Formats: sequence, C-alpha cells, structure tokens
Amino acid sequence: MFLDKDIYLFDLDGTLLTIEVEEFLQHYFKALSVEFKDLCQNREEFIQALMQATKQMIKNQGQQTNRQVFMDKFSQLVGLAAADTEQLEVRFNNFYQNEFADLDQYFTIAREKPAAVINYLKNKGKRLVLATNPLFPPAGVKARLSWAGIDAADFELLTTYDNMSHAKPNPDYYREILTKIGAEPDDCLMIGNDPQEDGSATELGIELLLIEDFLIPRDKVDYPVSWQGSMAEFKRLIETKL
Ligand SMILES: [Mg+2]
Repeated sequence: MFLDKDIYLFDLDGTLLTIEVEEFLQHYFKALSVEFKDLCQNREEFIQALMQATKQMIKNQGQQTNRQVFMDKFSQLVGLAAADTEQLEVRFNNFYQNEFADLDQYFTIAREKPAAVINYLKNKGKRLVLATNPLFPPAGVKARLSWAGIDAADFELLTTYDNMSHAKPNPDYYREILTKIGAEPDDCLMIGNDPQEDGSATELGIELLLIEDFLIPRDKVDYPVSWQGSMAEFKRLIETKL
C-alpha cells in the first residue's frame, strides 16, 4: 500500500495551499512591480524580465543554484551592475518578508484540512518534504506555507531557489531531492495537483497521488496515478488506513 512509504513529498500551490495560481500570480506581480517600479520603464517590461528569468530557472541543468540563474538573468535584462545585483537580492528578500507575506488578504484559503493532514502524518512519524517548485526564496515559501496554516519546521526539506539547481517538471528536480534527503524513489510518495509537474516524479519510480480540488488539466500527460481524490478524501484515507 502506497501509504506505507516513509517519506511524503507535498506540492504547495493548489495542493496544500488552496489558491488559484493564476489569481495569485496577478496579485503577486502587481505587488512586485509596485515595489520595483524604479527598475523598469513600465510594468510590462518588469514582468517580462521576471518571467524570462523564471523560465531560465526552470531550464536550469544543475550547474548553479536557481537563485544564481535568476539573479544573473534578471540583472542582465534590466541592466544592473554586479553591485546593484546584491542590492536587488536584499530588496527581493525584504519584499518576500513584508509585502508578499500580506498577499493572503486577497484569497479565501481553506486552512483546516491541509494543516490537519500535515499534523496527522507528522504524528505518525512520517518524514515530510515540501516539494514546491523551487522558484522562490525561503521567505516566499515560508510565507505561503503560513497562509496554509502550516509550520515550515514540520518539513525536513523545503525546496527553494537557493538550495536547488533544477525545477519541475524536470525529473532531475526529484533526483536532487532524493540525494539531499538520502532516500530511494521507493521510499517516497509525491502528492500534488499537477499531472505533469508533480507527475514527472513517477519517471524515477516515485508513486503519485493527485489532489483534485485544484487539479490542473493536462491533456497530453499520462503518468501513472496511484490514487486521486479531494483533500477531504485524502484526509479520510490516511485517518482510516494509517
Ligand atoms: Mg501545484
């Protein structure tokens, strides 16, 4: 039975955190472009630079951290000198600790079930990994976890842009996690809402569970799914079987 696995890898956005990603991105980009309005002529230019630097992180093949890839590309696109890049990073970190952390006011977030699931698994002695696409600094990941009412300390690893050098859906992202936590695919379960980005874990032999409350439709993806249901059903499943 898949629930017997020792290590549970959880996606964040749309899985533990019940927000529509598109709606979230709109508020996120707006807040960012207000904060950094001095760097670009206009908001579109800024968002373009952000998107391109993010795409570069997603293509990262492991030579440097995602953070380095992002900073290099973003600085180049907005024409920053090296010293200014350091300053940029300080500003990004401040942003994620302050303005970003307040974005939850725009969303209705269902905290009860995901937080109960994490607590239950923790009490059962499961090892937990937050396998969120590592495109954010730690402050950005911890803020989103706190929106979900979940304590970052419950996870032995949070994947962030400064501790990873691959991103989803590259299966090497999951290999990098296994190396970091000293585990084999057969020890792990991946629980997510994206048949592609979370599903690519199955290329290594990690079993996939899909939480369908915010399921992302992917027509052309056919990764094997060991179980699929709502977060409420998943909560019932672990409470009866574990
Ligand atoms: Mg997701």
